[in-house]
Amino acid sequence: MKRPFKIRHEFVEFIPKEREDGVLYVSIAYATAVHNCFCGCRTKVVTPISPVGWQLTYDGEAVTLWPSVGNWAFPCRSHYLIKRDTVVWAGDMSEDEIAWGRARDKAARATHFHGRPGAVPELEVQTGTPQRKKGLWT
Ligand SMILES: [Zn+2]
Repeated sequence: MKRPFKIRHEFVEFIPKEREDGVLYVSIAYATAVHNCFCGCRTKVVTPISPVGWQLTYDGEAVTLWPSVGNWAFPCRSHYLIKRDTVVWAGDMSEDEIAWGRARDKAARATHFHGRPGAVPELEVQTGTPQRKKGLWT
């Protein structure tokens, strides 16, 4: 497990093409945050901010992005949280967790777009056995 480390956030209107490592660029105008993957591989990670995407919190000093960033589509497959300008590693994701995360995203979107009340997407980082919770979304 890698150790947590501090990053910086930068509020911008347009996401710059040349991005510094260790910086989370936040465009409120476009409701998007972009950063170079914090594992060091520098893959561009785009996190749309929306009720069914990520939620961004700014407490006046630091930025928190929720839920975790799971880069399972990238070769590095890194998975971390950005909590008050700090990257906290969330551990490797197993194939099961990856599948479950995708199902969760899909379910969250379906719930949102069909406007059904009640089913709030579960946003905690899943460290337990995903199988047990699958029933929620089937
Ligand atoms: Zn990476």
